[in-house]
Amino acid sequence: MHLRPVGRVLAASALSLLTVITLAPAATGAPSRSPKGEEPGNGPERNEVAAVDPPRISALSALAENKLGSREGYPRTTQLRVYPEDPADKAIKLGLTPYHAIAPKLNELQGRSNRISVEVVGQSGLGRDLYLVTLTAPERPSETRQQERWRDKIENDPAAAARDRQLAREYKTPVWINNNIHGDEWEGTDAALRQIEYLATTRDRKALDLLSRNRVYFNVTANPDGRNLGTRANANGFDLNRDFVTSSQPEGIAMRDIVKTVQPVMMLDEHGYVSGTLIEPTGPPHGQNYDFDLYIKHGYANGLNIEKAVKALGHPEAQDTQIPFRDYPSGEWDGWAPIYTAQYSMFHGAISYTIEIPMRVNRGDYNLPETELRRRSAINTDVSEASMKASLEYVQDNRSALIANQIEIFRRGAAGEAQRYIPDGFVPGFGPEDRFTTKFPRAYVIPAGSTQRSGAAAARLVDLLVAHDVRVRQADRPFSLAGRTYPAGSYIVDMHQPKRALANVMLEQGRDVSASAEVMYDISGWSHRLLWGASVDIIQGGDLRVASKPVVAASPTGGVDAGPGQDLAITVRDGKDAAAVNDLLGRGIELKRRANGSVIVPASARVAALQVADRYGVRFSLAPAGDAGAVLRRPTIAAAVGPDELFALRDMGFEVRPVSTEALNNGFDLSRVDVLVVSSGLRYDLLNASGKAAVDAFAARGGVVTRGATGSKFNADAKLLDVTAVAGRGDANGIVNVTNGTGPIGAGALPQSFVYAPQWFTNLGAGVTVEQRYAAGHPLAAGHWRANEDGTGGPEAASGQPVVVSGADERGAKVVMFGTEPLFRAHPKGLYAQVANAVYWSATRNPV
Ligand SMILES: [Zn+2]
Repeated sequence: MHLRPVGRVLAASALSLLTVITLAPAATGAPSRSPKGEEPGNGPERNEVAAVDPPRISALSALAENKLGSREGYPRTTQLRVYPEDPADKAIKLGLTPYHAIAPKLNELQGRSNRISVEVVGQSGLGRDLYLVTLTAPERPSETRQQERWRDKIENDPAAAARDRQLAREYKTPVWINNNIHGDEWEGTDAALRQIEYLATTRDRKALDLLSRNRVYFNVTANPDGRNLGTRANANGFDLNRDFVTSSQPEGIAMRDIVKTVQPVMMLDEHGYVSGTLIEPTGPPHGQNYDFDLYIKHGYANGLNIEKAVKALGHPEAQDTQIPFRDYPSGEWDGWAPIYTAQYSMFHGAISYTIEIPMRVNRGDYNLPETELRRRSAINTDVSEASMKASLEYVQDNRSALIANQIEIFRRGAAGEAQRYIPDGFVPGFGPEDRFTTKFPRAYVIPAGSTQRSGAAAARLVDLLVAHDVRVRQADRPFSLAGRTYPAGSYIVDMHQPKRALANVMLEQGRDVSASAEVMYDISGWSHRLLWGASVDIIQGGDLRVASKPVVAASPTGGVDAGPGQDLAITVRDGKDAAAVNDLLGRGIELKRRANGSVIVPASARVAALQVADRYGVRFSLAPAGDAGAVLRRPTIAAAVGPDELFALRDMGFEVRPVSTEALNNGFDLSRVDVLVVSSGLRYDLLNASGKAAVDAFAARGGVVTRGATGSKFNADAKLLDVTAVAGRGDANGIVNVTNGTGPIGAGALPQSFVYAPQWFTNLGAGVTVEQRYAAGHPLAAGHWRANEDGTGGPEAASGQPVVVSGADERGAKVVMFGTEPLFRAHPKGLYAQVANAVYWSATRNPV
């Protein structure tokens, strides 16, 4: 996953490290939660390194995609295009397969086996093909169609599937093996290639029997760019094993589409490196939406089975195996968030595992001598392959039980049955600390029309749900439910559905799990209902028989609600609104921005307004009488930010130039920049004289937007806004309740926000406006936020405190400071508008 290479005695040391982080002055050093080093991106570390633009690879021809499942029968052969040899590929030093060697290998195997199928299921950020390789005995098209009917029946008519004896006998059990999602955890790919070759070419009867009764799917490398570059993240700087319910990255979308199409009964996600080998199931907290009894029964049994196979290899380095469910305290290696491959795959009916192979070969260790690295990688490849072989044997031995198990997951969901009480000792070690359950609502309704906060946000949420295989219906006529009336076109998520757990994990508020564990592995709050900007109602009961049709795609939401010849207005309440405004600005259309934040589009730009309304799903209204507003030009942003923030800013159509301490020291030109955004990798105190002079000169005319500890420190060191920043506990994260002010950023913002390593502001000088405060009392709505050992830094300390402030520096710069994380991992789409408004406001001279 998860990368923290915890040993089983690490609870105490992890805690003391956290203390160090939270007591350290903001943004100094490079704090890490892991004694063996953790990548930036998961918390306080993310403030240290500013994103740069990814490298580009060239000379890659275009390829027509063959969509997953679009061809009939097996094998499905694809003559793969071959990539230029790259002698710098980081796998080579390890004696492992460089990306460019994978396609030739798969082409060769397809030439001599009719049990191997290869499909291209997408491209990486830099344009490398993603390979889905299927091993199974040949099937006639009619046989494949029958398999697809059974797969569909398991999901959509599970009660009948449970009674279907032919299905139980002849359905080919799908198993999905995902590899190399972290680019610098290489060996899963090599183990997969070995298994692929073996299964494609062996004459062993047991293997042939396996392939006649199962389909084994390999995502050979989930992160080809990271594999080639030796980076954990993809080329956009995203940790793909955190992106599952956000779906912001092409590689993540490909994996999501594989798991929902394949519907595996079992899946493995091959990672490294944890000393000794780590095999899930996770420890608690476990996600509260699962039918966990159906997971843990097989999950733990095969976990033990994998452990046995790994030990049987006889490598001394792979003997100290760890199963977090059995061996770790709560929170050390939890299964709470739906952002990881294994935890996400459970929602599609899989018994799933994160596997961590034992011998570190990445980061600092990559500099070890080649012979040592190759020794380590050989052991790792053996361990990874052992986990695959053991799991395939388990599936073969427990085929019918696993199929029945998946059917039961979907049957309970479709029937709307309550989760089962799981008694202590249900599997060895199951206790009260493992018991996480929820009560599902009867439905969620996403209203259409004027009752909706943002039509574009509602459509985005509906499209995301559908893309994840959540059933959504759209009402043909107005209807009433639970005392409320909804217009035609409103969306209904009936929670009696096979993947109700997935629907709920995205739409529920979540829970404050602070009391359940001292630390959590990663984020503990994510609610799409609260953070994605759409209004969503929770329906606890009532008659859901509403004339409706299933949704394939949300209805268009864009339009212009004023006649020709009239000036138009748009208020930026969503990132989509900002994208529309930026698109118009990019066309050279002169817009005005009023003091109340609304953007005025001249009547002469009507055609362009109609086009962008359609493109982004936003609405323009008649510009009300009022002030003329200040001229809004397309702002040029210099951003010292995390890769996720860079991605989100560009997603809104802003023109962004990456900057950093180093870039400014090397003479980066701020003279053409309108707004400087600072959250990562820019330290005023580390600037040389010319860098400081450039920032000081900029402060007399430009706008500044800061976020987090690095941003607050920059504000203080550059003597911008007169405030004192206070840091909450460094690993605290989740959804917080907020109250909004009426200033340019707070007005109309959502009543919830997202924090990670939260900040707040005290000692506000004259002229500093509070845009947003933490709600009074206990502001955490869902997530994990505890106080430091000395009692500081907790949610109570943040109660009622300003968390977003704005004001003008005495030299003239307009400054906005965020103690929240409005662009975190490109997830909280409903918070983007706050940053867009901060940019527009701070970029606009002489507000009227
Ligand atoms: Zn990993």
